[in-house]
Amino acid sequence: MSLIVHKYGGTSVGTIERIQAVAARVAESHKAGDQVVVALSAMSGETNRLIGLAKEIDDQPPAREMDVLVSTGEQVTIALLCMALNKIGVAAKSYTGGQVRIMTDSAHGKARIKEIDSHKMHADLDAGSVVVVAGFQGTDEHGNITTLGRGGSDTTAVALAAALKADECQIYTDVDGVYTTDPRVVSDARRLEKITFEEMLEMASQGSKVLQIRSVEFAGKYKVPLRVKSSFEEGPGTLISLEEDDLMEKAVVSGIAFNRDEAKLTIRGIPDQPGVAYKVLGAISDANIEIDVIVQNVAKDNSATITFTVHRNDLDAANKLLLQIADDLGAEEVETDDAIAKVSIVGVGMRSHAGVAAKMFEILSSEGINIQLITTSEIKIAVVVEERYLELAVRALHKGFDLHVSV
Ligand code: ADP
Ligand code: ASP
Ligand code: MG
Repeated sequence: MSLIVHKYGGTSVGTIERIQAVAARVAESHKAGDQVVVALSAMSGETNRLIGLAKEIDDQPPAREMDVLVSTGEQVTIALLCMALNKIGVAAKSYTGGQVRIMTDSAHGKARIKEIDSHKMHADLDAGSVVVVAGFQGTDEHGNITTLGRGGSDTTAVALAAALKADECQIYTDVDGVYTTDPRVVSDARRLEKITFEEMLEMASQGSKVLQIRSVEFAGKYKVPLRVKSSFEEGPGTLISLEEDDLMEKAVVSGIAFNRDEAKLTIRGIPDQPGVAYKVLGAISDANIEIDVIVQNVAKDNSATITFTVHRNDLDAANKLLLQIADDLGAEEVETDDAIAKVSIVGVGMRSHAGVAAKMFEILSSEGINIQLITTSEIKIAVVVEERYLELAVRALHKGFDLHVSV
């Protein structure tokens, strides 16, 4: 007997018919003798609708109340799925995050799971029940409802799989696996049979929203076998593989990720002295603003320029801080730009191949796309370009690195 965690995203539970189809799939697995735990999202559009309601009252509602509100979407779907399962003769019990003690820290809206008490779930499973858990939510030590950030049901599923020592965590979604890039942008993107955990982590962190980044981190840390599959059709999906060795001959580039969520800030004419970068960037991170790409350069006259990117939602706050710092340092100017996008090529094959960056830049230049910033890791090269060139850049790179052709 295997213990399998299934996760269904918003589109997969978007209507009553779809919830019934999910019930049929869960029932099939249960009848085949598996113990099944299901993590669910809210119906598609519901979380956005709830956020919209809150914003009608207050542009910046209290984070605690926001979590009480947005966590309700998942409470609806878990109950409906259990009803659908009961209706077809499968015993099932639904639980909110708090009820199965998904304990998190208190960072409302971006809480991290600390531990899960799996006793109750094991007892239900042993009694022959399917267990259905609300994704995206948990509770802190004071009993406050918390949520895990957008797309957080993926993380709930993987964390449940880790806590229950499940044999596999299957993420059912509206695509039949992880593709070489978002198939909505490149129509000849290809489904990958396997992708290494490390590559998936880079893809997710560079903007591929098919899996929430924390779910991939969790899967790596607790060695949870993870598979992305379609909830609408049968198929093998994509395995997120923990081992690089068991992959066949790897392409240099496995996938392309992109992200339109960032904005760029530049501070010019600051002293080229120890402590200046700390003064600029320290103040930003002290304000809990995450910084992504950072570039510093020194001009002939010994004045320095620092450019960095933050999430677009943080642009105003970062700009305010930067203007203050600019005053203190006697900087020449501060400039902001939110019409940017980041495109990244990812692949473990890069480790053993030279010239990948040059090829990327050649492809972009042949399309007349100017590169504003560049950042690299061992298995990734990311560039910031003007937002209006994003799709062109992704398509050109997909073709240029032959990602439409199977290896
Ligand atoms: P769910 O609601 O099931 O969690 P998401 O919308 O969060 O689904 O994630 C699935 C979507 O991720 C797909 O519809 C697709 O547009 C997008 N996506 C982005 N990058 C990729 C990729 N590399 N492979 C597959 N899907 C991707
Ligand atoms: N419902 C939440 C969201 O829309 C969580 C999820 O679907 O994973 O972000
Ligand atoms: Mg998702």
